[in-house]
Amino acid sequence: MKKILLCFLLSTSLYSQSEYPQDYFREPLDITLVLSGTFAELRSNHFHSGLDIKTQRKTGLKVYTAAMGYISRIKVSHYGYGKALYITHPNGYTTVYGHLKKFSPKIEAYIKDCQYEKESYEVEMFPNNTELLVDTNEIIAYSGNTGGSGGPHLHFEIRDNAERPINPMLFGINIKDSKKPFISSVYAYPKDKNSFINGKNKRIPLRLIPKKNGDYKVEKITAYGNIGFGVVSYDKQDLAPNNNGVSNISSYLNGNKVFEMDFKRFSFSETKHLNRYVDFELWKTKKTRSQKLFVEENNPLSIYKNVVDDGYIKVEDSTSSVYRVDIKDFKGNTSELEIPIIGKAKVLEIEVDSSATEKRLIKNQETTTLKERNTQVTFYPNTVYDDILVDFKVSGDTIHLHKDVVPLQKNFVINYDIGNYKDVDKSKLFIARLYGYYKKPSYVNTKRKGDTLTARSKTLGLYTLASDTEAPKIKPINFTNKKWLSKYRYLKVKISDDLSGISKYRATVNGKWILMEYDYKTNTLIHDFNDAVVTDTENNLKIIVTDNVGNSSTFEATFFRK
Ligand SMILES: [Zn+2]
Repeated sequence: MKKILLCFLLSTSLYSQSEYPQDYFREPLDITLVLSGTFAELRSNHFHSGLDIKTQRKTGLKVYTAAMGYISRIKVSHYGYGKALYITHPNGYTTVYGHLKKFSPKIEAYIKDCQYEKESYEVEMFPNNTELLVDTNEIIAYSGNTGGSGGPHLHFEIRDNAERPINPMLFGINIKDSKKPFISSVYAYPKDKNSFINGKNKRIPLRLIPKKNGDYKVEKITAYGNIGFGVVSYDKQDLAPNNNGVSNISSYLNGNKVFEMDFKRFSFSETKHLNRYVDFELWKTKKTRSQKLFVEENNPLSIYKNVVDDGYIKVEDSTSSVYRVDIKDFKGNTSELEIPIIGKAKVLEIEVDSSATEKRLIKNQETTTLKERNTQVTFYPNTVYDDILVDFKVSGDTIHLHKDVVPLQKNFVINYDIGNYKDVDKSKLFIARLYGYYKKPSYVNTKRKGDTLTARSKTLGLYTLASDTEAPKIKPINFTNKKWLSKYRYLKVKISDDLSGISKYRATVNGKWILMEYDYKTNTLIHDFNDAVVTDTENNLKIIVTDNVGNSSTFEATFFRK
């Protein structure tokens, strides 16, 4: 009998180990891996889809193939992952390497051919499985800071054959971590009008009391009805001070599991619903992400497990119970939080919202069009998560459309009739969002059809018509007109646009297109003379930069090389 039991245990543990191959992928850098970002940690409008590996505050570290395979996708873009490589491996997984500085010579040559053919820095390619084979331990690129990266690092992902990102640490990538996650805030939430926490029918912050062993408790709360909780938590690993994401959160009522969130794998189609998982209003107003340990309507996230009654607990009069939250990092280091609850009935007080009459109702299942003056805002079905009341008012050309504290699943559509503007002015108009304390206008991608301007957005708030009449500025950085540049490796230019922003640029030498890499963070365009397309002694450089409403500037200079 004993022997059978042992066999059974052994085989289950083997099974769980073999779900993901353990020794297949090597680490993509040959330094001790230290993370500035963990898998599925909470970012703006998405869960992080990989590991952010620190590169010792510099760029240019050798990036290795995690395993042999073929390059199945290459993407070079101004934003997002910047310069990125995708390798498909024989076992069906794909590894992704982002924010690269440059590629290995054979890959670099392959990409430049495409860039010169398309006359574009931004390109996307899908080589077939015979074109760019890569071996184990091959150097494929050098780490960088390209695209939407806030500092030098390597973004590394592993995706399954359905393009779902999986935590790379499940494949045996080992990061030193002996510290428990920490909790910085905890909140209690009423589910409906008949739920109360400490006598109130609203979100209540609870005061955290750290225990000596690193766990937490809060003072006893009184509650009545259906309530839920939210926690703000991070994990620090051993070799860096970065606040990274946790790996699993589960909660228990009197020892029985009522909720679990497990961040092993997700799909890109669901990642935007992070805004339904965190308390969006708190995030927008206080810049802190409370992870709600309950699941509201219209939340399709797949990362919930073992959720009882949507994660809410029901508190009855004259009861005493304990709600416990366990927060784990990938290594299983666990922080516990205990919330003692006393049930206390509360008589419902009806509050009259006097401003309700001026608000407009947006229903989850219906199309709603708000119209005033020369503007129109349309919400299609499934744009909001819940039916909501929004403030809507138009003054001058400015639309006051609630505040940006409500998360949306889809874009709403804004239309402006610009028929009352003079024809000469119409072409310079665009729809802008006014953001921040100073109500700075920022360009929203605007389409014009006759006298109608249209833009789409997922952010509620202030919108207006803005006019951009100034062309972009172009300034050489490392050369002047008529200069000899024989010993120069690079040609550098600064470009900028004050209001609507840069839409496109084109650089030629003696009429021939040259590749200039654009970095929006430093506003620079850089040409590498090693591309060997500039071969004449006397060269006429011409750069045309166009902004988002079509104003354009031309810069011309002559330089010499031999
Ligand atoms: Zn990343």
